[in-house]
Amino acid sequence: MPEYRLASSIALSALVLKYTFSSLSELKIRGIANSARDIYRFSVRKFFKLLMTYVPNIKKQVNEELETALQKLEVDMVDQGRELISHVELPNVGLSETEVKKELEIMANMHHSAWEEGKVSGAVYHGGEELLRLQAEAYGMFSVSNQLHPDVFPGVRKMESEIVSMVLKMFNGPETGCGTTTSGGTESLLMACLSAKMKAYHERGVVHPEIIAPVTIHAGFDKAAYYFDMTLRHAPVDPVTFQVDLGAVKRLVNSNTVLIAGSAPNFPHGIIDDIEGLSRISLRYKIPLHVDACLGSFVVPFLQRAYAEIDPSVVVPLFDFRVLGVTSISCDTHKYGFAPKGSSVIMYRSPELRRYQYFLATDWSGGIYASPTLAGSRPGALMAGCWASLVRIGVQGYLDSCKNIVSAAKHIKEQIETIDGLVVVGNPISSVVAFTSTTLNVYDISDKLTAKGWHLSALQNPAAIHIACTRLTVAAAENLITDLRESVEAVAESGSSRADQGDTAMLYGVAGSISTNGLVDELAVGFLDNLYKV
Ligand SMILES: *Cc1c(COP(=O)(O)O)cnc(C)c1O
Repeated sequence: MPEYRLASSIALSALVLKYTFSSLSELKIRGIANSARDIYRFSVRKFFKLLMTYVPNIKKQVNEELETALQKLEVDMVDQGRELISHVELPNVGLSETEVKKELEIMANMHHSAWEEGKVSGAVYHGGEELLRLQAEAYGMFSVSNQLHPDVFPGVRKMESEIVSMVLKMFNGPETGCGTTTSGGTESLLMACLSAKMKAYHERGVVHPEIIAPVTIHAGFDKAAYYFDMTLRHAPVDPVTFQVDLGAVKRLVNSNTVLIAGSAPNFPHGIIDDIEGLSRISLRYKIPLHVDACLGSFVVPFLQRAYAEIDPSVVVPLFDFRVLGVTSISCDTHKYGFAPKGSSVIMYRSPELRRYQYFLATDWSGGIYASPTLAGSRPGALMAGCWASLVRIGVQGYLDSCKNIVSAAKHIKEQIETIDGLVVVGNPISSVVAFTSTTLNVYDISDKLTAKGWHLSALQNPAAIHIACTRLTVAAAENLITDLRESVEAVAESGSSRADQGDTAMLYGVAGSISTNGLVDELAVGFLDNLYKV
């Protein structure tokens, strides 16, 4: 059957060519060094995965480690709730109002990280009682409402449109500027990526869409890539400034690129990327540019005015719609906007970009269906809580908060610089300060701080710790410095060094630094599973 053979060898050649081409283009985009590193990492991971699967001793050891770690997680997360009355199924007869309130009271007061004392990084950004009361009242008045029905709840439509408008003004939106509210920063990022993907698909026929963003960009971009079948190309950051490496971004641009992104500031180190530099690239190649100001939210727009008073020598770079290449910005009203959790705004330079995030099902037997964001029904009560917070606090209130928070962060940064062995990551000018150590195991320092009731964030690649200052941390800044000094001294005395930090990572790894990878995935899944244990 020569025809069959001919056909099969043509098919085989086509396949070989396809993979050769895609490997070559990968090589071109990532560069030889990066590709080699990717292949190395991939092989090492696969190798240890094989070891873990097929070498009984290693498999046993890894499983034991995992089991212990998961049990500890479960004790930490779930056990505390187990002394309480458990409702694994609906009560046959509903509880009385008094009983419900009593149980709510107990759960509200379960032992938790001490955010009230300002010892938690981020998480609770305002925490003032008067504002919480106003929000609860606003929420109560609109708890039946749903943005899906603007005719039934016209007040909610008014509030949502005003929230978008107020936030656009803060970010110097142009005449054509527009946006939508979302359920939070992640949804805003999802929308920015979706609209860029759909724009490139409809206007340029791109079917393998790629996003270019710094390694420090929020994981919401990885989530967007996962949900919408896009490829996220990470650009490295400069080793000194920790801003995205513009040369690397430029090299990653190719015909599949649909979006470039930068942060103002990023979550790990609180560094504002060079948005004007990114803008030059995005204008040159006609690619949309997203600025993630989810965290910057209501701090960065006031930064320039705040520094004029705190320290006029600090230059605040441009990051908003005044930078011409910027096509979309995300801003979390539920962070420094002090709104109740569950609200954020995605803004666009023009309505045609916003249109690409809309979903329409015009032939549905249920009627013409049109929805602006991910959710169908949306809780109008959150809009009321958000709107009430924004108009209650106003420009003066946010400017004051910005000044206090940024001054606290600046103070913490300057004090850390005086502690032997600690190094601040880059030169943060916003609300987040990250630090690492040249001599000590920074995770040991983090453990010591945890023992003193602090709840800071541990970072990786490189190992570091950060604090996102909030209104509550302002008063706690001095305590933090004292506790940090003591922790650093204790770790130095303990003889644990930076080398141990490396060893720890390697150790997890006798079954390899890589078995950590297999293990980390399992641990993360265990963590999520624990959320639903009763
Ligand atoms: C918090 C944050 C987000 C979004 O997070 P959500 O938890 O979904 O609100 C996005 N980017 C940065 C830089 C953030 O800090």
